[in-house]
Amino acid sequence: MHQRVKDLVDRGDRFLIATHIDPDGDALGSAFSLCFALNELHKEAWVYLRDSVPYQYEFLPKPRTVLGPTDLTRNGFDAFFILDCGDLRRIGDELQRFRGNCFTVNIDHHDTNEAFGQLNILDDRASSTAEILYGILKALDVPFTREMAVNIYTAVFTDTGSLRYPNTNALAFSICQEMVQRGVVPSEVASGIYENHPKARFDLLCLALATLRTHKNGRLATMHVTKEMFDKTRTSKEHTEGFVEDLKEMRGVEVALFVRQIGPTRFKASMRGKGSVDLAAVARSFGGGGHKNAAGCTVEGPLRQSLKTLIEAIPL
Ligand code: AMP
Ligand code: MN
Ligand code: MN
Repeated sequence: MHQRVKDLVDRGDRFLIATHIDPDGDALGSAFSLCFALNELHKEAWVYLRDSVPYQYEFLPKPRTVLGPTDLTRNGFDAFFILDCGDLRRIGDELQRFRGNCFTVNIDHHDTNEAFGQLNILDDRASSTAEILYGILKALDVPFTREMAVNIYTAVFTDTGSLRYPNTNALAFSICQEMVQRGVVPSEVASGIYENHPKARFDLLCLALATLRTHKNGRLATMHVTKEMFDKTRTSKEHTEGFVEDLKEMRGVEVALFVRQIGPTRFKASMRGKGSVDLAAVARSFGGGGHKNAAGCTVEGPLRQSLKTLIEAIPL
């Protein structure tokens, strides 16, 4: 499998790397490190981001060749790499239209991956997409620069909830260790992500916490943010990163559900669990996806109704 990627990279010159909308640490870290790696191999590479980089990840070394939706004009790419994306809807409409029938390499760790590539490198036991990519970069024999190391470290670190979640495996630790040997300063990464919030984020968190409820004998905790709350605190979706993880810290909670408004009657749900429920299956029943303990979907309907439907669908 890795040999096929090596052949593809050897034969090609120009590559486009994409990841999912609303990118997280694994999405950005994997995409950026692959871009730097291809450059090390004297290949031209671009990273396509539908959305801007959330402020938590502004410290990441970023390639100079990052494209947005308005830059998708000319398609002379030898292959597309799509990273950390369970299905093609998650790359966004603009890239879906642009991709045409270009050869696609799908590298991912979601349980729900639809194997949409011509080449699919999938491992749902991997802690992160970066963990799979690490194996590929070793096979490509590319040296790990400090820029790549910071990206890979951040990707593994964030997707494992700072090396705490059940997906944290021995390889996650050994990759992080190797990246530290290659120049990563763990405290710098941690403070970039976790100690860099604007005050407005806490204003939003105050409003969100006022909506905190428990259900099912305290085994499910829910919290939500409406458009009105975003407007009042002058915040946006990036300021909600970490809210659902905070909810999970409550004793006795097995599933945390966080919902944010994305349209007049449209809500994005994020679910996090501790192992007792298959949340990927719950998310899939709403057309979403993810992993057993971390999944997401979009629901349509008024807030109360959307929450009720989601709560009922979580088998606790
Ligand atoms: P989130 O709650 O958005 O942080 O996502 C949790 C996990 O579920 C991540 O691995 C996402 O890639 C995945 N996920 C979130 N929303 C969706 C969706 N609408 N469709 C498919 N997968 C999703
Ligand atoms: Mn992701
Ligand atoms: Mn991931």
